[in-house]
Amino acid sequence: MATGRFAPSPTGPLHLGNLRTALLAWLFARRSGGRFLVRMEDLDRLQSSREHEAGQLADLAALGLDWDGPVVRQSERFDRYEAAIDRLDRAGLTYPCFCTRREIQEAASAPHAGPVPDGAYPGTCRHLTAAERAERAASGRPPALRLRAQVAELTVPDDVLGPLTAAVDDLVLRRNDGVPAYNLAVVVDDAAQHVEQVVRGDDLAGSAPRQRHLATLLGLPPVRYAHVPMVLAPTGHRLAKRDGATTLADQARAGRPPDVVLAALAASIGLATTGEAVTAALLRDRFDPGRVPRSPWVPGPELLGT
Ligand code: GLU
Repeated sequence: MATGRFAPSPTGPLHLGNLRTALLAWLFARRSGGRFLVRMEDLDRLQSSREHEAGQLADLAALGLDWDGPVVRQSERFDRYEAAIDRLDRAGLTYPCFCTRREIQEAASAPHAGPVPDGAYPGTCRHLTAAERAERAASGRPPALRLRAQVAELTVPDDVLGPLTAAVDDLVLRRNDGVPAYNLAVVVDDAAQHVEQVVRGDDLAGSAPRQRHLATLLGLPPVRYAHVPMVLAPTGHRLAKRDGATTLADQARAGRPPDVVLAALAASIGLATTGEAVTAALLRDRFDPGRVPRSPWVPGPELLGT
């Protein structure tokens, strides 16, 4: 029995990929009678968040995916993130970073940079002297705050993908606009909410080692990971609006109510035959975590046709 969660960013309607990930996260948690939580990752505090949140929750409910307790919003938890930053700060595990995005790209591709994994921070500001730091601070650009990572790479087990190895760089803890960073907020919240298993899209698999390291430095218990494959358009690219009926509302407009979409999602993970009438509860009883498909799903014309 493991507590699980679904943590969407309320920036628009959930598309088929998000819905399939939500279904899988729900199945992992519920098959063993575990709790299932929903957390809105609205760190950017966009005005439209509440509207999208309501739409996303209605979509989960329409598929029969229920959750426990109140929905948690990251926008209301900045004090927790700051407390965690404070803790790392006091342990000497942070430093200000004045780099622009461009400087980071240039430093990472410089001939003397050494091996810097894709997208990883090359550590430019880590070794600034106090004088250099003061000089850069005087330039007026507010710094981001980074973690002084204690390892360069880490392997974490994943229940779907097997062992995941990725770089652990000096990730951002607080962005230079003052907003806590995604990696920090996720780690703090998963621990505060007693989440035991994180099921999410495999586009985030590379973040798991970073997040595990951060949890360790904060003295928080490790979570188990299960990264599930993406949903792709027939072109092989990530599913986008132009690919057709990508949201539940689009599906309904095309004459396919939520139970038809649920059946198609279930068929895509081997839990139903195409067109079979199913409920979330039935899928829960059939679900075998060891048999989650490992390759991306490309919906057919039965879902993408409008
Ligand atoms: N908020 C992230 C997203 O919508 C998911 C983060 C997570 O599950 O850790 O892609």
